[in-house]
Amino acid sequence: MIQRLAESMSEAVKIPTISHADPTKEDREVFSEFLTFLENRYPTMYAKLEIKRFGDSVLYTWRGKEEEGELFLAHYDVVPHEGQEWTTDPFGGAIEGGFVHGRGTLDDKGNCILLHEAIESLLNEGFVPQKTVYLAIGADEEVGGRRGAVEMAKHLKENGAIIHTILDEGGAVTVDAMEGGEKPFALVGLAEKGSTNFLLSLRGQGGHSSMPPPSTVIGKMATLIQKIEANPPMPRLTPTVRAMFETMAPFMGTRGKLLARIKQLFPVISKALVKSPTTNSFVRTTFSVTMIDGGNAPNVLPAKVQAVVNARILQGDSVEGIMTYLRKHLGDEVEIEVTLHEEPSKTTPHQTKEFAVLKEAIEHTFGDVVVVPYLMSGGSDARHYQVLSEHIYRFSPVVMTKEDIASIHSADEKISLENLEKGFVFFKDYLKQRSMR
Ligand SMILES: [Zn+2]
Repeated sequence: MIQRLAESMSEAVKIPTISHADPTKEDREVFSEFLTFLENRYPTMYAKLEIKRFGDSVLYTWRGKEEEGELFLAHYDVVPHEGQEWTTDPFGGAIEGGFVHGRGTLDDKGNCILLHEAIESLLNEGFVPQKTVYLAIGADEEVGGRRGAVEMAKHLKENGAIIHTILDEGGAVTVDAMEGGEKPFALVGLAEKGSTNFLLSLRGQGGHSSMPPPSTVIGKMATLIQKIEANPPMPRLTPTVRAMFETMAPFMGTRGKLLARIKQLFPVISKALVKSPTTNSFVRTTFSVTMIDGGNAPNVLPAKVQAVVNARILQGDSVEGIMTYLRKHLGDEVEIEVTLHEEPSKTTPHQTKEFAVLKEAIEHTFGDVVVVPYLMSGGSDARHYQVLSEHIYRFSPVVMTKEDIASIHSADEKISLENLEKGFVFFKDYLKQRSMR
């Protein structure tokens, strides 16, 4: 089996399905090629399941005896590799040293392929699901999911699909990502922060630079940017993040003793948490100034300067609230426009029997790990499906090191054969468990 999984993964990597916000800049042929590859590689699925295309995204329906369904998500588009220092061919799909190498192996062709493998395998064994199983594969997740996930969610909603739970990519089994962790932590995303862009614009007089005012609009914008960086919103403890730290605490050594009392000690503990970018992102809305544009000649006063602030909005805050916050700190002279509007997601409850089923499946495959509720600071397609179910889990069944995490959207992404095997076993087991309940 492992040989087949490695080959499937390798073949999938070789097709460079790089998505772009502007669909006309995408290579339509590679997307078709990928879909043809799936059709040839998974003949039983293509013979027995209902298949509906949404552009290059695909929704599979495996009808069970019941109408109620379980939804699985993955995506096969990938981010570009330009400007990154790869030591292997990002689209070579080499199977070497116990790994399949290349772009997408962790994000998210791995899940895409393993879900296909699991379903194909169950079909070939003659498995008949009690409930209906849906598999939605996005082709534009990396650029927002508007053509894929948004349309597929709309279709399901309009057709009255009853979805019990949803599983998408997200957290993973991490071995060394949390400092001081004494056991592997299986991070299950229960919520994701909202990613919103604010475009700041300042206008000036323009003119010749030989007789300048004391400050140009570029200088003024620099002052505003300093204000943004000096005034991050107050740290706050959300229920998900509290559950995360409290679940990890017993396995965190002496630090754990403090974390176990995070609710009472938050004013003190938060001072340490905000010092690391990772833990900082768990406890507040963050701002990053990601783009700046202004001026077009060395001897001309700029007439206009613009900057983009990407805000990752924590549960409990809102786009409107953050706009007010920016306005208060930056004054009235600057124009502020929302160019991407995404509120934080809803939060999946975790003291439920639905969560327990997932926890059991993770422990069954990965052994002695601690299953931890988790807040994702990155986005996934899952948020587009939140009208369909309140039980949305964001978890990829792979063991990841810090190095693996760093390779996502970066150089030398790869997946181990052991991970492919574990992921396959997990999806088969979990899909069976879910569809029988
Ligand atoms: Zn992804």
